[in-house]
Amino acid sequence: MTIQLELPTERFRAYGPRQIDSIASRFGLSDEMRETIRRISLVLPFRVNEYVLTDLIDWDRIPDDPIFQLTFPQHGMLTAADDRELAELAADPANALRLKAAVRDIRGRLNPHPSGQMDLNVPSRGGRPMPGIQHKYRETVLYFPGQGQTCHAYCTYCFRWAQFVGDPELRFAAADSAQLVDYLGEHPEVSDVLVTGGDPMIMSTARLRAHLEPLLRVPTVRTIRIGTKSPAYWPQRFVTDPDADDVLRLFEQVVDGGRQLAVMAHFSHPRELDSDRTRTALRRIRGTGAVIYCQAPLIAHVNDDAATWAQLWRAELAQGAVPYYLFVERDTGPHNYFKVPLARAVAIFAEAYRSLPGLARTVRGPVMSATPGKVVVDGVETTADGRHFRLRMLQARSPALVGRPFRARFSDDAGWLDELELAADTPRDLAEAIRGE
Ligand code: SF4
Repeated sequence: MTIQLELPTERFRAYGPRQIDSIASRFGLSDEMRETIRRISLVLPFRVNEYVLTDLIDWDRIPDDPIFQLTFPQHGMLTAADDRELAELAADPANALRLKAAVRDIRGRLNPHPSGQMDLNVPSRGGRPMPGIQHKYRETVLYFPGQGQTCHAYCTYCFRWAQFVGDPELRFAAADSAQLVDYLGEHPEVSDVLVTGGDPMIMSTARLRAHLEPLLRVPTVRTIRIGTKSPAYWPQRFVTDPDADDVLRLFEQVVDGGRQLAVMAHFSHPRELDSDRTRTALRRIRGTGAVIYCQAPLIAHVNDDAATWAQLWRAELAQGAVPYYLFVERDTGPHNYFKVPLARAVAIFAEAYRSLPGLARTVRGPVMSATPGKVVVDGVETTADGRHFRLRMLQARSPALVGRPFRARFSDDAGWLDELELAADTPRDLAEAIRGE
C-alpha cells in the first residue's frame, strides 16, 4: 500500500566538474582543495547533487568528513607522478591533446574492468555479444539498462567508475530488454534478474517500467533485484519526485504479479540513514511489499572502523531493512587510497558483528566479488601448519564450488584474492578456479 504524502517537490540538481568553482565558493573550499578536485576529476568521475551537498556532508569536518570522502575526488587518489603530469599538462591549453592522452593512459592503468567482466560474463547469441547483459552465476543475470547508467551522485570508490567517464569501450548498456527477454526464454535456470548500473532509479518511472514489464512476462524470473543508492543520495525519488508515487505503484505491480522485488540498497555510512527523507523513502518502499537488502564496501577514509559498521547495520535494521553484505573494495580505480587489507577487514567485521542483535546478523562479510565468484573471509586460524585465512566460496561461476571452504596463508597487507597464497591442502578444482586456470 502506497503511503500518501503532501510534501513539496524538490528539484533534482546535479553538479559536476564544471561547477567546482561555485561549490568551492559556496562551501569555503581552499584553493588547493579546489584544484585537487579539478585535477583528479579529469580522470575519475565526479558528480554530486544539492541534497548530498547540503544535507549529507558535514562541511565543518572536511576533508576528513566521510561523505566528503565518499563523493569528492581527493589528494592521493592518483600517484604523485600522475598527479604532477596532469597539473603540468593542464596548465597550458596548448597541451590539450597530450592531456587527453595522459588521462586515457592513467585510466587504462587503473584496471577499469576488474574481475574479467568485459570478457568473462557477457553472453552471446548467434556469435554476437549481448550489450548490457552479464551472466556470471547460473541463476542470476545482471541487466544494465542504457538510460540507467548514471547515478544521483558518484561514489569516489565506485568499481564501475569506468562506466561514467564517457568512453564507449568502457560502458555496458542495453537499449531495451528485448534481447534479455529472448535470452531468459532460452535460460530457464535464471530466476533472478539484477537491474543495475549506474543506478536504475535515475530513470523516470515510465522508462523503468518499459524495462521491467517485459521481464514480468517471463515466468521463470521469480525475483527482480534493483541495485540502487538512491535512498541515500536522492531519497526524494520515493518521496517527493513528480513520479515518486508512480514508482511505488510499479513496485507494487511487481509484487502483486507474484514476484519478489528486492531493493539492493547501497548505504556506506550511518549518516545516510540519519535523514527523515531517507527513513520516509525506506518506509514507502517497504509499503509496496518490496524487501530492502543493504550492502556496501569497506572503505578507508569512509567507514573503516567497527563502530561505524555496527551503527550502520543497527540503523538499517531499525528501518526494517536487511543488512546483507560487507564487501571488500575491488582492485580498481583509486584502490590504493581506499584499500583496507583483508586482515583488518576481517577484524573490523568480527568486532562489529559481535556487537549486533541476532536479527542484524544476516550480514555477511568481508566478501570479495572476485573472478571465480564471491569469496567470504570467515576468519583467521593458527594451527601447527601456520597462520591462515579461512575462506569460503559463497557464490561461484561453477555451481560445484559453492559453499566450499579453503584456506590461504595469512598476510598483513594482502587486499584481494589474487594476492593470497593458497594453502597446500586446497582442493584442486578450487585452486584452479581461483587461479583462473
Ligand atoms: S551509486 Fe553505485 S554505481 Fe553509482 S557511483 Fe556509487 S557505487 Fe557506483
